[in-house]
Amino acid sequence: MLSSVELPNKEKTSKNVPFKYLLVVFLTVVLPGFNEIFFNFKVNIIEFFYLIPAFILSYYLGLYGGFLAIVLVSLSVVASHTLHWWLGRGQLASNLLDDLIGLGSILAFSLMVGYFAEKMLFRNKMLEMANAKLQMLAMTDELTRLYNHRYFQMRLEEEIQRSNRQNNHLSLIILDMDFFKQYNDTHGHPMGDYLLQLTSNLLREKVRVMDTVARYGGEEFVIILADTSGEQAVQVADRIRQAIQDYPFPGRETQPGGRITVSVGIASYPNNATTKEELIQRADEALYKAKKETRNAVQLSFSVSEDKSHLRLIKG
Ligand code: GH3
Ligand code: MG
Ligand code: MG
Repeated sequence: MLSSVELPNKEKTSKNVPFKYLLVVFLTVVLPGFNEIFFNFKVNIIEFFYLIPAFILSYYLGLYGGFLAIVLVSLSVVASHTLHWWLGRGQLASNLLDDLIGLGSILAFSLMVGYFAEKMLFRNKMLEMANAKLQMLAMTDELTRLYNHRYFQMRLEEEIQRSNRQNNHLSLIILDMDFFKQYNDTHGHPMGDYLLQLTSNLLREKVRVMDTVARYGGEEFVIILADTSGEQAVQVADRIRQAIQDYPFPGRETQPGGRITVSVGIASYPNNATTKEELIQRADEALYKAKKETRNAVQLSFSVSEDKSHLRLIKG
C-alpha cells in the first residue's frame, strides 16, 4: 500500500550544509591563521576568533563537531606558526606552546556546546519520530492495521484527481463479510476480531503496492485500485472472493456452506460516477445487489449510461 504521509523534510538543512562548512573552514583556518601571520595579534584575540567556528561546528554536529573544531583549530595554530617561521618572520607574539594551551579552553567550550547540541539533536529526532508515529496512527485502523475510513476518503479524492490528470480509470471495491453477525454470535466477539484481522492480511496480500486497502467500518473493507478498469477490478475482486472462500479460517464450519465468504461491489471512475461520493454510492449499490442475489458474489456497477452490458455478476 502506498503511504502519502509527509515525514519531516530534511532537504532544507542538507542544502545549507556546504555553505556552513565553507564558512567554518574560513573562520577556523584562514582568518585566524592570516591574522597570526600578518598582524601578529595577541593570542586572546585569535582565540576569540576560534570560538566562533568551534561554536558553529559543535552546535550543528554535536560532540563530533566539537572534536572537529579542535582538530581544525589545532591544525590552524600549528600551520600558522610553521608558516610564520618558514617565512622567516621570527617569533610570534604568542609562542606555539601558549597557543596550544589556549586550545584547552576551546576544547572545553566546544565539547560543552557539542554536548548540549547533541542532546537537542536527539530530542528533535525523538520529536520527529513521535510525530511520524502520530501521523501513522491517525490514518491506521487499530484492529486490522489497515488504513482507516478517514484516510480512505482522503486517498480516494487524491486518486480521482490523479485519474483526471492522467486520463485513466480507477476502480473502487467495497467488500462486506457474509453472515458475520452469526459468526460473532457463535464464536464470540474476540474471535470475530481475529477473523477481521486474518481477512485484512489476505486483502493486503492480494493487491499491488499502488493499491489502497482500508477498513471502511465494521466488517466492511474498501480497496482503491489505481489505473484499473471495472472489468479488471472484477478479476481482482473475484480472486479475493475465491481466496477468502478457500481460506481455512477457524470456526468456519459453523457458517452457512461451512465457509467464510464475502460479497463485493465494484464501481469504476469515470465510467460509473463523476464524483467521489457517487463512486462510493455506486459501489455500495453493487454490493447491496451482490448481497441480495446470492452473497459470496462480485457485482460490477451499472454504467452511468445505464448500459446493461456493464452489469456482471460472478457467483461463488
Ligand atoms: P450480511 O451477510 O448481510 O452482511 O450479514 P452480517 O451478519 O455480516 O451483517 P450485519 O450488518 O447484520 O452484522 C454485522 C456485524 O458485524 C454486527 C457487528 O456486531 C459486527 N461487527 C462490526 N464491527 C465489529 C468488530 O470490530 N469486531 C467484531 N467482532 N464484530 C464487529
Ligand atoms: Mg456490513
Ligand atoms: Mg456483513
